[in-house]
Amino acid sequence: MGAIRTVVIDAGHGGKDPGCHGASAHEKNVCLSMSLMLGKMIEEKFPHIKVVYTRKTDVFVELDERAKIANRNNADLFICIHANAASATAYGTETYVLGLHRTESQQKVAERENSTIHFEDDGGEKYKDFDMSPDAIIARQIQLSVYLDQSISFADKLQEEFKRIGRFDRGVKQAGFLVLYKTTMPSVLIETGFLTNPTEEKFLSSAETQRLMAESMFTAFRKYKNELEGVEENVQGPIVPEKLQNELAKEEIEKTEVGEGDVIFKVQIETSEQKIGLTSSRFKGYSVAEYTQDGLYKYTVGSFVNNFAKANEMKNEVRSNGFEHAFVVAFQNGERINLQKAIKLAEN
Ligand SMILES: [Zn+2]
Repeated sequence: MGAIRTVVIDAGHGGKDPGCHGASAHEKNVCLSMSLMLGKMIEEKFPHIKVVYTRKTDVFVELDERAKIANRNNADLFICIHANAASATAYGTETYVLGLHRTESQQKVAERENSTIHFEDDGGEKYKDFDMSPDAIIARQIQLSVYLDQSISFADKLQEEFKRIGRFDRGVKQAGFLVLYKTTMPSVLIETGFLTNPTEEKFLSSAETQRLMAESMFTAFRKYKNELEGVEENVQGPIVPEKLQNELAKEEIEKTEVGEGDVIFKVQIETSEQKIGLTSSRFKGYSVAEYTQDGLYKYTVGSFVNNFAKANEMKNEVRSNGFEHAFVVAFQNGERINLQKAIKLAEN
């Protein structure tokens, strides 16, 4: 197997394209920090490997230029680093390879990342001949099939390392990313977490935790490199400081203060006779809570104090993400109460 000589690191967005954002953090900045950290780690440990950055500063780079940089440099690996956006309760990391999305939420991620072309001078005109139909994406995936196994292998290792430092693993996924479409080498796009989730925004914004993410990527890179080059080596990932372990353990949104008599609306997505782990993949990365009623385990997402409209909005979102039978439930003083009564109470 070939050795890795050149790695291209692609910090998402930049310049006039800020990417997604949280309360204060912008995707373009957190991606750049982690990209520079990862690149430096590779340069220091493996001086013979050429590390090429699609950007090292806050500048705008067109999507097809990013792919061209990778192709021109005959990169052996292309790593795109991004951050995610969804509801305030979505959390965790996911790594994509080029392919056909399986759910609407995966498609949405690709659409959001692809939408950066509207910042380009010709408004995305040059992508007219990028056929992103399902048939074309599958055809492209077959063309690139020699790299697909390697892309997936690296993506698996990334997710493993993120999980090891306590991040929630949303899995390795596929979707039609323009930036991956024309590259001719193993390529992945990492969604490092949700800036729309306050806890994750904080995690992705601090230099200390950005370093932890970069070290995890670096560990995955070393394991991938060893696998490719047939090297046996026991590679250790970063050690998570104790205070961070606690923070990561409660990776969920902070609940609003609840007063006496307040009504809490939640969205029920699952009922089961058996207990289900709260981080089960069945919940597709949603932060869920459990309650029991009539001997059944019931699982909810969201928590809206006296706000039925918001809960209803969330119900529609989770329905479109595969929980077709989701519905709003209401609680008062820890007891489930009739929904119509709850709506009345919340109005007063
Ligand atoms: Zn992005």
